Amino acid sequence: MPPASDADFSLAGAPPRPGGPVILTSPAAMQRWRRDHPGELGFVPTMGYLHDGHLALVRRSRAENPLTVVSIFVNPAQFGPGEDFERYPRDEVRDLALLREAGVDAVYLPSAAEMYPPGYQTYVTVEHLTQRLEGAARPGHFRGVATVVLKLFNAVSPTRAYFGRKDAQQLRVIRRMVRDLDLPVEVVPCEIVREPDGLAMSSRNVYLSPEQRGAAPVVKRSLDAAAAAWAAGERDAETLRRIVRGVIAAEPLAALEYVSLADDETLEELEGRVERPALLSLVVRFGSTRLLDNLELA
Ligand code: AMP
Repeated sequence: MPPASDADFSLAGAPPRPGGPVILTSPAAMQRWRRDHPGELGFVPTMGYLHDGHLALVRRSRAENPLTVVSIFVNPAQFGPGEDFERYPRDEVRDLALLREAGVDAVYLPSAAEMYPPGYQTYVTVEHLTQRLEGAARPGHFRGVATVVLKLFNAVSPTRAYFGRKDAQQLRVIRRMVRDLDLPVEVVPCEIVREPDGLAMSSRNVYLSPEQRGAAPVVKRSLDAAAAAWAAGERDAETLRRIVRGVIAAEPLAALEYVSLADDETLEELEGRVERPALLSLVVRFGSTRLLDNLELA
């Protein structure tokens, strides 16, 4: 392969690390590596089983920072009893190959035993924001998310951290935590990456049967229908939610768990005329698989 030009480097951030990324498996090892690699650093936290949505975050980080760290950690603290922690898809070998190809500098792969040793008892609670939507459907979920993200930030000390808009409530919870706890990190939101038929990419899409996968684009279609009504001037919150319900109801394999039109920042449900930026979000079940999607209306 010919050597990349300087111009390529300025587009893609620093050149790929020769020999591939360093792999760090404990908070202490991660902190040591960070002390030895000062300066601006972009961080992409993930639960692995990487897809193009994750890799878009990695590319953005590489373009904006001289160093990029990706973490892979399936965080037991954010799964409730009876959820899919054990069967959550994992493929470390493939993930590491993709991250090597993407040119990241280090991969942080802590074990659950390192993250939550015996006696562990400290958690972060973001109060009101986490009571709604996914927080209501999955009690304790965001306590686990906020806790692990703070622990990851403390190990990695990133300048910037990249989060997908796909997990809209998670993004808002992390932003709130960063503001409330004065964390010295810039949270960078990234656009949702979709399959060609509109389905938002997700590690959990592998749970779908071929029939369910065929039906799944209805989720995005329901948002498109609401977006079209919004663009045509519709501002009544219940009418916009009803449009989403109607599209989902026409697909027999899909069961709507909830649809919400909420204040974009507080996530308080809106009634009547929508006068400020709003988040339209929904969860649709295909069998036992929950698909999340959302659209910002402004
Ligand atoms: P996860 O591995 O599912 O915890 O996701 C790790 C990060 O990737 C989170 O910030 C997600 O919001 C983001 N992400 C996941 N899927 C997508 C997608 N389809 N488009 C953009 N970002 C995504």
